[in-house]
Amino acid sequence: MSDEKSKKEIYGELLCLHYKNAIEIANSLVVGLDSQGYIILFNSFAEKTTGYKREEVFGKSWFDLFIPEDEINEIKQVFKEVKNTEQPSTTENKIISRDGNELLIVWSNSQIKDESGEITGILSYGIDVTQQRMLESQLSRSERMSALGQLVSGVAHELNNPLTAVIGYTQLLVGVDCDSETRRMLNIIYREAERCHKIVDGLLQFAREYDQVKEPTQINDVIEATLNLKRYQLHVDNIQLELHLSGDIPETMADPHQLQQVFVNLINNAHQAMTDHSGRGKLTIQTELIDDKIVVKFIDTGPGIVKDNLSRIFDPFFTTKESGKGTGLGLSICHSIIEEHNGNIYAESEIGKGSTFTLVLPVVTSDEIPDNVINDANIEQMQDSVFGGKILVVDDEQKILELFNDILTMMNYEVVTARNAIQAMDNLDNNEYDLMICDMKMPGFSGEKLYNIVKSTKPDLAERIIFVTGDIINPDTQKFLRETGNPYIAKPFSVDEIKDIVFKSFSTEKI
Ligand code: ADP
Repeated sequence: MSDEKSKKEIYGELLCLHYKNAIEIANSLVVGLDSQGYIILFNSFAEKTTGYKREEVFGKSWFDLFIPEDEINEIKQVFKEVKNTEQPSTTENKIISRDGNELLIVWSNSQIKDESGEITGILSYGIDVTQQRMLESQLSRSERMSALGQLVSGVAHELNNPLTAVIGYTQLLVGVDCDSETRRMLNIIYREAERCHKIVDGLLQFAREYDQVKEPTQINDVIEATLNLKRYQLHVDNIQLELHLSGDIPETMADPHQLQQVFVNLINNAHQAMTDHSGRGKLTIQTELIDDKIVVKFIDTGPGIVKDNLSRIFDPFFTTKESGKGTGLGLSICHSIIEEHNGNIYAESEIGKGSTFTLVLPVVTSDEIPDNVINDANIEQMQDSVFGGKILVVDDEQKILELFNDILTMMNYEVVTARNAIQAMDNLDNNEYDLMICDMKMPGFSGEKLYNIVKSTKPDLAERIIFVTGDIINPDTQKFLRETGNPYIAKPFSVDEIKDIVFKSFSTEKI
């Protein structure tokens, strides 16, 4: 009998040791709390995750040491419920590590009972899911962005054709002899249509996936160039400008136009916030090289951003501006551009203390520099060129064909139009043309296919095709244009753009 008891005891001790070891080597936090929430068990993994040694935490209140202040009451309530639940339970809460970071932990909890069956505390196994949740939320943001991007890009392309006709015809009419009242009204139509154009442009940029044109870029120069556009208006609106541009910033491979767009957005937002808030303010722009990263800050003395909004300002269509003043796309475009540069953008703000937007960009020293699709020739010189010649215009939109016809006829070109590629091929069989203008996206038979046919039958003319596209953001379109090297014009276009590109095409062998 006594032999049997000692066996049991030995077995019990071994088991106890085994459990102790298992807890100690577990790959999750194991924490035991007594019935008041004081810490009685804290394994190595808990030490590693939180940065505290067990000697520092034993006997201390779990709530006081680890729980964010504003959540203590709620978590104490959860603790009570867990303690009184027979079945193991799962809970999730934030804890603060020794270095002040917030960690999100998922706990599996069970009661601790003494020999008489009385509940003396709880034992919890915790898994740190902070990184995982962050990734999930980034993933769901990019999924949402991609679905929204497709929708937005579809709508924007549909709007482009009618808008092109409105802008083009209004410009033509303004040039015609008319009384001042008619001119005034036409100018209003033109201005408003241009406003819609800007919105469509914003939508397309928001939805874009096109390759960036990266080149060695000096960020300080891009900031200076952006300020050349904004300096006067900031001065007029009582916004003081303070610049701290470090001389240590190296060049990095980046798309300077896109970065300029980001800077314009951030400056405009700060400008508007300060003007609306107090009619004056100070904008500080600084660049620094920190740990081989270029850090750019835009610090304003505006009203600041409330905490709830701070987490939403980079979401598409989030705006607090009154209707007509904001689209809510600015910061989401900035976010995607900086992300495509493998950088980071974030905002810090406190009500009444202004806002700081920080960009962190990597220094990239070598990269492939893609060719620009159109090289910049001196248009003014070319405008002295001789007019005249025969142009075939192919587009499935009747209004666009009419607009091209009107513009080019006014320029003394002979114009033939075709509603689709088949009609265009009939025309090409029977006539010689000096230039072709061809829509890329036509039902059934695309501009790309037509180009390939022209290339095999009339290679000289193939080099003189100007493509028209409402889909310049599309990577396939970009690739095609880069490969052919042919010029293109993006819808909606202005009359001057058409004139310039046709001048260029008649004045050069190949653009
Ligand atoms: P929009 O300017 O069209 O509203 P954005 O995406 O650029 O769109 O900005 C979203 C929102 O972020 C703004 O409506 C505004 O509430 C807030 N915001 C952005 N920049 C600032 C700033 N510097 N100060 C205060 N609020 C800002």
